[in-house]
Amino acid sequence: MQWRVDEIRDQWGMRGECLVAEPLAPLTTWRVGGSADLLVRPVDLEDVHALFNFLRHNRLPWVVLGGGSNVLIADSGVRGVVIQLTDMNYIIPCGECQLRVGAGCSINHLVAETVRQGYAGFESLAGIPGTVGAAVAGNAGALGQQVGDCVHSGLVAENAAVERWLHEEFAFGYRSSAITTEYVVLEVTMKCQRGQPEQLRQRVKLARQHRWQAQPVVGANAGSVFKNPPRQSAWKLIAESGLQGKSVGDAQVSKQHANFIVNCGKASAMDIVALVSKVQQVVAEKTGFKLEPEIKFIGDFGEAAVQVALMQVNGRV
Ligand SMILES: Cc1cc2nc3c(=O)[nH]c(=O)nc-3n(C[C@H](O)[C@H](O)[C@H](O)COP(=O)(O)OP(=O)(O)OC[C@H]3O[C@@H](n4cnc5c(N)ncnc54)[C@H](O)[C@@H]3O)c2cc1C
Repeated sequence: MQWRVDEIRDQWGMRGECLVAEPLAPLTTWRVGGSADLLVRPVDLEDVHALFNFLRHNRLPWVVLGGGSNVLIADSGVRGVVIQLTDMNYIIPCGECQLRVGAGCSINHLVAETVRQGYAGFESLAGIPGTVGAAVAGNAGALGQQVGDCVHSGLVAENAAVERWLHEEFAFGYRSSAITTEYVVLEVTMKCQRGQPEQLRQRVKLARQHRWQAQPVVGANAGSVFKNPPRQSAWKLIAESGLQGKSVGDAQVSKQHANFIVNCGKASAMDIVALVSKVQQVVAEKTGFKLEPEIKFIGDFGEAAVQVALMQVNGRV
């Protein structure tokens, strides 16, 4: 399909950035993947509405990308439209202990701003890369705190229809929520308390120190690749299976943290998929556990897609 950005703007009234054939690798922490046919960055709710009208009218497939810190994008890129909400990154206090946060706001900006303004409750999340929208969708967490714990409610789009979901409707679980690929988190109302900035700063410092000790990983990565099976640590199972340092092409199981895969230079998405698959196979053979990926796969992985689909099954094999 030939894209004319000026036509899209004129006809649909979209105001945010629209980029044709935009490379996605620089937008991911793995630095891997092809281009999006079209990348759009709506600036507000009205713009999101215009975007969904355009998508629906043209029957275009779409996917949301946050900070790209938990995704593997196919080497062939993404057909259709990639939506990024990075320009919807506001933090608006409402009342004494709630904040309205745009889904494109980064977790680290949220932590820094709330500490500065004396709002407590987000310090443990310091250092988690990516955006608030994705953190809610995946219920990201650290040091025993999950993002879902801070969510009061949120604005969620299902195509052009935007609805307010209350905390319970998100059905938060371990690295999961009811936000599947047909939904987009647009804004989150978060709960917090008042706190002393200096104390909050100390807590953030401790959280960052703990993170650096637990994850001293050098090189492009996407954080933990696999979820922990119940009562197990994925990194332990991988380390015990003798996989640290094993590689496919430039993709390597980190020597510092067994649940991280590092792009040592020019890894392709297929190298990473092959290594993910290899880790699953060896861990299953050696320990009996089938590891479920925490990372999300975006785009067409061809034959490997079958493997990827099979990977979504958790538990013992
Ligand atoms: C060094 C490092 C350390 C990490 N440490 C942690 C950690 O301690 N704890 C932890 O939980 N995670 C951790 N992660 C993983 C990652 O940071 C989180 O999963 C994060 O929430 C992903 O956010 P993102 O914006 O980068 O999402 P992306 O990677 O861009 O997207 C992830 C998924 O969310 C979807 N998505 C994105 N935005 C939205 C939206 N607005 N609405 C609906 N769906 C959306 C995407 O379609 C995709 O399926 C780490 C990653 C790295 C690289």
